[in-house]
Amino acid sequence: MVTLPDIEEARRRIAGHVVHTPLQSSQSLSGQCGAPIFLKLENHQTTGSFKLRGATNAILCLNEAARLRGLITASTGNHGRALAHAAKALGARATICLSALVPANKVEAIRVLGADVRIVGRSQDDAMREVERLVHEEGMRFVPPFDDAAVIAGQGTIGLEIADDLPDVALVLVPLSGGGLASGVAAAIKSRRPQAKVIGVSMERGAAMAVSLAAGAPTDVEEVETLADSLGGGIGLDNRLTFAMCRNLLDDVLLLSEDEIAEGIRHAARVEGETVEGAAAVGIAALLAGKVRADGPIAIVVSGGNIDPAVHRAIVDDIKTGVV
Ligand SMILES: *Cc1c(COP(=O)(O)O)cnc(C)c1O
Repeated sequence: MVTLPDIEEARRRIAGHVVHTPLQSSQSLSGQCGAPIFLKLENHQTTGSFKLRGATNAILCLNEAARLRGLITASTGNHGRALAHAAKALGARATICLSALVPANKVEAIRVLGADVRIVGRSQDDAMREVERLVHEEGMRFVPPFDDAAVIAGQGTIGLEIADDLPDVALVLVPLSGGGLASGVAAAIKSRRPQAKVIGVSMERGAAMAVSLAAGAPTDVEEVETLADSLGGGIGLDNRLTFAMCRNLLDDVLLLSEDEIAEGIRHAARVEGETVEGAAAVGIAALLAGKVRADGPIAIVVSGGNIDPAVHRAIVDDIKTGVV
């Protein structure tokens, strides 16, 4: 398990390489809920999501030789982007394996960050097999997106910043997918402020951690399209850390409909002036949907801002035209 000292060490390690993001008061949400509400704005993090924290810590935990042999992963999303950026900033090599089905604009976005891109096969499984081959044959280091102690400790630095900036926090709402973010934040918050609650938030359909926690063991779920695309994917049937940490540390898990998530994105844009992706809007959405009881100050982790501009515009415009 990852504990407070690991997270404090991660914070010292990554200081200067990541942004201590603002914890911004929301007058509108505070008024609606009758308690002070704050947004932890990781959409302002370099690379547009909190994933830079874990990736940076994972690289800084390696010695010089391992950094030169290189880091490798198979993510097309925020983790791949973060690993590519962190590797370049720290003078390490990064290789991102992608299937031939990944759209050209996503491939290009990773290439411009300076990573080696390898196109292999026609599925995420094919890309992962190439990762395993390069780990075995070339000694590259696999940096997993969530189920890794250094990654979890890096994400947990968000919890330390919240505890420092809002010492009387009563509840933290955290987007939940593989659970690296929730595990790290909960470990930090529960150590620094044991009375505070930490609640994970996912979409209703295809929430692998929620299904696994309910089943009592890591469970596969069918992947379905969702506005919260960064929350898709499984937790791994051989999950080592995040399933147990989420089971031990989370007070509850809330699930949201697609309409509720869209409402969160709209509120962030129209009222808070923040561009956030679906995965990052779930905490705001849970409050707006009346699914959270406020017994004191609430911090909402707004995890990232990488959303297709056309999708974002369509969602925000809906309200202006009165469709919702
Ligand atoms: C990865 C990601 C999450 C979920 O993090 P996990 O550690 O997999 O639970 C949430 N929001 C955004 C923007 C992400 O990129």
